[in-house]
Amino acid sequence: MTTATLPAFVTHGTPIKTWFGVGGSADRFATPTSVSDLRTCLAIDPTLRVLGDGANLLVDDDGVDALVVSLDSPQLAKIEVMDAASGLVRAGAGIHIFKLMNATIRAGLGGLEVLAGVPATLGGAIVMNAGGAFGQIADVVERVHAVDRAGRDVVLERRDIAFSYRHSGLTNLIVTGAELRLTPSDVAVLEARKKEINEYKLRVQPMSANSAGCCFKNPTLRNTIEGVGEAGKRVSAGLLIDRAGLKGLRHGTARVSEMHGNFLVVDDKTTGKARDVIELMDLVANRVMNHFGVALEREVVVWRRHG
Ligand SMILES: Cc1cc2nc3c(=O)[nH]c(=O)nc-3n(C[C@H](O)[C@H](O)[C@H](O)COP(=O)(O)OP(=O)(O)OC[C@H]3O[C@@H](n4cnc5c(N)ncnc54)[C@H](O)[C@@H]3O)c2cc1C
Repeated sequence: MTTATLPAFVTHGTPIKTWFGVGGSADRFATPTSVSDLRTCLAIDPTLRVLGDGANLLVDDDGVDALVVSLDSPQLAKIEVMDAASGLVRAGAGIHIFKLMNATIRAGLGGLEVLAGVPATLGGAIVMNAGGAFGQIADVVERVHAVDRAGRDVVLERRDIAFSYRHSGLTNLIVTGAELRLTPSDVAVLEARKKEINEYKLRVQPMSANSAGCCFKNPTLRNTIEGVGEAGKRVSAGLLIDRAGLKGLRHGTARVSEMHGNFLVVDDKTTGKARDVIELMDLVANRVMNHFGVALEREVVVWRRHG
């Protein structure tokens, strides 16, 4: 498809909104309003990238050449309570998790309140298996609807998805929606739990900073580290960063948060550079390796111009 024949929903030089608030634009950007439009996008560029809420994403300063697709359209963000008694809910991948959480809580269905304070679209939450100490999205996923790179429909049952810590194995698909199995519960109890988790997060994490939440996955220790954890245990990457003395470390326009060592933040979106964040991530990982001999793996997804 040449530029002249591209559908009207494809725009050019479009900023890619992320929680970091820095980084380049998409040469081509689309907001398809249906799965059929999404197939058109795949025909234009089978290597397209899906933008969720941009809460776990850093886009390099020179942007990306691949078509970037946002599923933030009403058709792809619908919520349907299919069976309230058994807690079955279907939702489009573009729905924001907070909206879905609030709607299901109002319907007296529990399970998503554990994701209070985790910004995401449903699609992004499933692909990243978002969660934490209170639970993870995989706990409520019953079935995932997606299309593959050839535009074919794919339906995956929960048992066929390799969910593990911050992992789903679904990165090569475009998730279009999911069926969730929630638990009929008391609305007031769910609201109270959501509030409690939100308040906890606000106390321990810089929630309003320009960041992508935790930059690194919590590693599993090969050897016991005094005061950190035993061999074979998953430990907090933030604790390792803190113990390595890196809180507050600055690199250009990026900084390790003083409040939470695993949050790398950009103070000023207008002057901030994605490159500084990328280099700070490398610096932090190297220092933790030198200090503890522990390799930190990035949780944040980095998009570069070519691949
Ligand atoms: C303040 C803050 C707090 C956070 N706290 C937590 C936390 O407690 N726990 C946690 O797990 N995470 C946390 N995060 C990270 C983030 O919320 C999660 O990783 C979330 O799942 C990202 O979803 P998203 O829709 O924003 O995805 P994006 O960041 O937009 O994308 C992330 C990846 O998913 C892919 N993707 C997105 N949608 C789709 C789709 N429909 N189909 C296929 N691929 C898709 C993208 O291509 C990209 O590779 C936090 C982030 C912030 C900013």
